[in-house]
Amino acid sequence: MAAALIDGRAAAEALRQRLAITADFFRASTGRAAGLATVLVGEDPASGVYVRSKGKATREAGMQSFSHQLPVDTREADLLALVEQLNRDEQVDGILVQLPLPDQIDAARVIDAIDPAKDVDGFHVVNAGRLAVGADALVPCTPLGCLHLLKEQLGDLSGAEAVVIGRSNIVGKPMAMLLLGESATVTIAHSRTRDLPAICRRADILVAAVGRPEMVRGDWIKPGATVIDVGINRVAADEDGKTRLVGDVAFDEAREVAGAITPVPGGVGPMTIAMLLRNTLVAAHRRAGLKVPEDL
Ligand code: NAD
Repeated sequence: MAAALIDGRAAAEALRQRLAITADFFRASTGRAAGLATVLVGEDPASGVYVRSKGKATREAGMQSFSHQLPVDTREADLLALVEQLNRDEQVDGILVQLPLPDQIDAARVIDAIDPAKDVDGFHVVNAGRLAVGADALVPCTPLGCLHLLKEQLGDLSGAEAVVIGRSNIVGKPMAMLLLGESATVTIAHSRTRDLPAICRRADILVAAVGRPEMVRGDWIKPGATVIDVGINRVAADEDGKTRLVGDVAFDEAREVAGAITPVPGGVGPMTIAMLLRNTLVAAHRRAGLKVPEDL
């Protein structure tokens, strides 16, 4: 029997409706809307699309969006000065600096300059550390979205055998930490892992965050496993010449074996922006000294 499809669009829409209600309560209790500032340096078309859709989703959820667009030749000192200004701005609860940044700017230095309480991407070392020790953190949006889908699909993850392929600071490592926090037994696999297929075959939960089109084959998957495909890869189409998006998992093969699987597109992708809104509301509540609602 073919695997169940995990519908990230529907899950993200349901979450965004709940977030809009929480955003209304926040505004009613504080007299101001929660605010997200986005910073885009340069004209990269893909980054422009991401930033604009983040701004639109923020406004649709009843929050304020402040967008800052800087020229491609912006000096690092000027970007750092803008980050400082946003750190001090009481209307701003979340700061998102869109990556990648142009070569003259050190991204690590910029991330380091963001107030950890406003670091809604969860990339600051303070938030990574807080996640690692199990303290309240702002957690990177994509792995947080994956965890949300997994818990909706499986409920309790305790004791499950989980394999995460990829060890980036943005996806793989925080994903592993979140799964550990749910008491799963976690293996992190990466480019130097020996016999990756055998390790994947152990997994009740398999998260692929690699960036290699359709690398994970059907016979790497344990029958009945839940597969979360984070990969977004653009490949040339076969006949009509148009490109198409595929994940890191060979979807048609995997669907014959897995118990449940996220499609690409329409799986993990939509959850990322929803979790950015969620993180902004969490940051806003903490900054205002309000209790963070439990269903966020
Ligand atoms: P990255 O390049 O920073 O990390 C990739 C990881 O894969 C590395 O840790 C590397 O060790 C591992 N890897 C590379 N080749 C491998 C191999 N042959 N076998 C096993 N492991 C291997 O990438 P990232 O930022 O973590 O992103 C991963 C994928 O997720 C990309 O396709 C990216 O586009 C996608 N992504 C999607 C979203 C979303 O919203 N859905 C968000 C972020 C990233």
